[in-house]
Amino acid sequence: MTSDVNAGAAAKGLPRRDDFSDWYSEILWRAEIVDTRYPVKGVCVWQPFGFKMRSLIYSILRSLLDDSGHEEVLFPLLIPRSELMKEEEHIKGFEGEVFWVTRGGYEELDVPLALRPTSETAIYPMLNLWIRSHRDLPIRIYQVVNVFRYETKHTRPLIRVREITSFKEAHTAHASREDAEEQVHVAVEIYKRFFDRLAVPYIVTERPEWDKFPGAERTIAFDTLMPDGRTMQIATIHMLGDKFARTFDITFEDCDGNRKFVQQTCYGISERCVAAVIAVHGDDHGLVLPPEVAPVQVVIVPIVFSRDEMRDDVLSVCSELRDALDDANIRVVLDDSDERPGAKFYKWEMKGVPLRIEVGPRDLKTGKCVFVTRHDLNKFHVNLSTEEVVGMVRKTLARIYEEMKANAWRRFNDMIISLSAETTAASSAESDASDASSDTSASDEDVLSLIGAKMRGGIVNVFMCPKCGKALKELTGASVLGTPFDGRKKGKCVVCSQECAELYVARTY
Ligand SMILES: [Zn+2]
Repeated sequence: MTSDVNAGAAAKGLPRRDDFSDWYSEILWRAEIVDTRYPVKGVCVWQPFGFKMRSLIYSILRSLLDDSGHEEVLFPLLIPRSELMKEEEHIKGFEGEVFWVTRGGYEELDVPLALRPTSETAIYPMLNLWIRSHRDLPIRIYQVVNVFRYETKHTRPLIRVREITSFKEAHTAHASREDAEEQVHVAVEIYKRFFDRLAVPYIVTERPEWDKFPGAERTIAFDTLMPDGRTMQIATIHMLGDKFARTFDITFEDCDGNRKFVQQTCYGISERCVAAVIAVHGDDHGLVLPPEVAPVQVVIVPIVFSRDEMRDDVLSVCSELRDALDDANIRVVLDDSDERPGAKFYKWEMKGVPLRIEVGPRDLKTGKCVFVTRHDLNKFHVNLSTEEVVGMVRKTLARIYEEMKANAWRRFNDMIISLSAETTAASSAESDASDASSDTSASDEDVLSLIGAKMRGGIVNVFMCPKCGKALKELTGASVLGTPFDGRKKGKCVVCSQECAELYVARTY
C-alpha cells in the first residue's frame, strides 16, 4: 500500500532520478548536504545536516579500523617539495595535480610546500624515524584529513573535487611480504563490512597494470554503480611492497640482527562514500538513508490544524513519544512547526528520514498511530502506547536496513551484464574462420563496439586479455575496472582467443 500523499509524481522541483546528473546536483542543496556556491572552483561547504550524515558514516569507518588494530594519527597538510619528489613513479602520477605554497608573507620559500595530494611522502619519512626493530612492527595507522588535487576535468561535488575534505587514508608497515599481503586481504574485508553497513553494493577488482596507484605493485578497488549505469570508484587498496621503503630508507632489524626493508600497504576512502549513499538509495522524492547514517531516524508529525479542539492532546501524546524514543537513543524530531502536514512530509522525505510517525485526533480515539517507511512509502498502524511504539520503531528500522540492502544489491546485479558465455562461443567460431589474419580485424572491432554498446546498461563482464582491454578502452572510452579479486575464472579472450581471466569494463565517473 502506498501512502496517498506521495502516490504519483516526484517531489515538486526535483528532477527525476533517471536524469541522474541533474537529480544529483539538485538534491545536494535541497536536502542541505553541501553548498557549492563557495567562490573557489571544485570545493564546497558542508551544511549541518550533511555534516551530521558524513560524521555518522565516518564513525562506522573509524570503529571498524579501531577494532582491527589501527590507530588514528594526524600528519601536517604541508609536504616539502624535496620529500614529495623522492619517489619517481609516485610523483609522475601526481605532479600535474599538486597545489603549491611558494610564499610565506613577503618572502619566497626556499623549499616550496605542497598541499598533500595524498600522504605517503608526509608519513614515510617519519616511519624512517619511528621504526628500528621488528618489535616496532606491524604499524597500522590512519588519518581522516583533507587532501588537495588540481582537478582539470569537470568537477562534481563529493565525486570529483579539488579539495577532498574527508580522505581516510590508512598506512601499514610489516616485517614480511606475507604479512603485508595478508593486510591487503584484511583491508578488503574491512571495506566490505563498511559498505555493507551503508547498504551500498560493490564489486572488488584488481586494477590493470596501467591503472595502478602511482608507485604501487598492485591496486585493488571497490566500484559501485550510479543509476545511469556508470561506475564510481569508492575505495582503493594498494600493495606497495618495499618500493617506498627503499626510497625513504625504512628499515628494521630482524630477530637475527639483519637490517631489512619493511613491506607496506596503504588504502583509502574519500567522501565518495557519502555520494554513494546518496546516489544508490535516493529516489524521485529525495534522499533515502539507511537508518544507521540518518541524522534524523524518526520524524513525528502531528496531523492537527490550529482550530482543532484536540490539538493540545495530540501534541502532548507526540511529545511523550518523542521523549520515549529519545530515551531509547533513537534520533527523533517532533515537527510541531506551523507548516501544513503535507509540507512537512515533503521536507522530511527530501532529507531521507527512514520513518515517519503520524498522530491525529482520530488516532487518539482509535488508539493507533500511523507509521510510514521512507524507502517504500508504505503505511501501517501501530498501537499508540509508548512501549509498543518504541519496540516497533526498533524493529522497523532494522527491517528498513535489510530491505534497502537487498533492493540495492538486486538493482546492482541486474546491471551487471555477463558476456562471458555468449561472445566466447561467437568469437571461437570466428577465430576458426579467420586464423590467417593476426591483426585486429574488422570483426574484432565489431566485438569491441558491441561490448561498448552493452556498457550503456552497466558493468560488462567478459573474458578479455589485458591487451584487448586496452584496445577497448581506446576505441570506446570505457574503463577497464579489472579482474575479480576473489576467484579467477579462466576463459578465452573474446577478441584474440588467448587464455585470460574475466574482465569487468564500464563507463566510469
Ligand atoms: Zn585478447
